[in-house]
Amino acid sequence: MQALCDAAGVRLRAHGKTHKCSTLGRLIIERGAVGLCCQTVGEAEAYVAGGIQDVLVTAPSPPWGAARLAALAKTGARIGAVADDEGQIDRLSDAAVAAGVTLDLVVDLDLGTHRAGAYPKDALRLARAADAAPGLRFAGLQAYLGHLQHMDDLDLRKSADEAAFATLKALVAELTEAGLPPPVVTGGGTGTHIYDLASGVYTELQAGSYAVMDVEYDACGAPGGQAWGFEPAMAIAATVVSANHKSHVTVDAGFKAVSMDGPPARVVAGAAPGSLWRAMGDEHGMIAHLSLIDVLKAGGRDPLGFDKAVAEADADPARAWPADAPRVGDIVWLQPGHCDPTINLYDALHVWDGETLERWAVDGRRVSK
Ligand code: PLP
Ligand code: MN
Repeated sequence: MQALCDAAGVRLRAHGKTHKCSTLGRLIIERGAVGLCCQTVGEAEAYVAGGIQDVLVTAPSPPWGAARLAALAKTGARIGAVADDEGQIDRLSDAAVAAGVTLDLVVDLDLGTHRAGAYPKDALRLARAADAAPGLRFAGLQAYLGHLQHMDDLDLRKSADEAAFATLKALVAELTEAGLPPPVVTGGGTGTHIYDLASGVYTELQAGSYAVMDVEYDACGAPGGQAWGFEPAMAIAATVVSANHKSHVTVDAGFKAVSMDGPPARVVAGAAPGSLWRAMGDEHGMIAHLSLIDVLKAGGRDPLGFDKAVAEADADPARAWPADAPRVGDIVWLQPGHCDPTINLYDALHVWDGETLERWAVDGRRVSK
């Protein structure tokens, strides 16, 4: 991603909400990123404590966040905050003045995601407010198009993105004309990065998931229609704890092991290609052999249908697992459906380069929001 950004003349400000891991964040910065994004005040605190000196909090922070962000800037780190209304600007200004620091203030825009952000018509008013507010430096505009990132229809993903770029360019022109050229235009994500980098409007790219990838991104396809340039880098080690059936084995990875908001985790190693993982409870999942897959695909949570399929598989020697079927104690590797909330379930990433195993703390989780 750094190479793509360099080629496009866009700075990378990778999103740290994906991994919440300051060690990984430092590596991204060592390779050329200007800093990190994060989503919560607590993440910003963890990143600064972890040695990251330039952090932009990309979501409007709750009222109690302002003083904490100002305190963080007092450590010497460069801290940016976004705002989408004047009350937020006033609070951040008051907190910065009280702490004797300057915060970067980025005006957050809503170009269709409708999660946070100001209407484009309000951008100039907010930029003026930020520019006039003591303790704040008007640092530019943010436009993150979250609703487009996983759009399956690539033509639509591209055209909707480009429509937003046109709005953004018009705003940059409007602010420039008014004497407030935005120093930074920040946004973009893994699902649109090719279009974002070609847009000519972003000065910073906020992509995050690319660093580890997940099933959801693999499934929706890379922008531009080519293969993803990012390998899945993360898998969960699920250990087989019971193997009495020919239809499936049971692993110690269930609802608590993988975030359940995205597509199901995918078996990437340790069981026959095509095997499926499905949660079986809080602490359990199944690795289903091919004999059960039709049942699972047909909506498999009917308990009697499941019971019947297991009994049939057990009674039919022809449907036995192959000799290399996972046994109790074996590890089956699962690629998470959605990377960010899955990492948030773990204390550490165990990083293996083929020779050495390192443990990198997920130090931005379990912190105060
Ligand atoms: N910027 C903002 C404001 C986000 O909320 C996100 C993720 O939701 C990103 C950037 C990174 O997006 P992705 O993980 O899809 O690269
Ligand atoms: Mn995500």
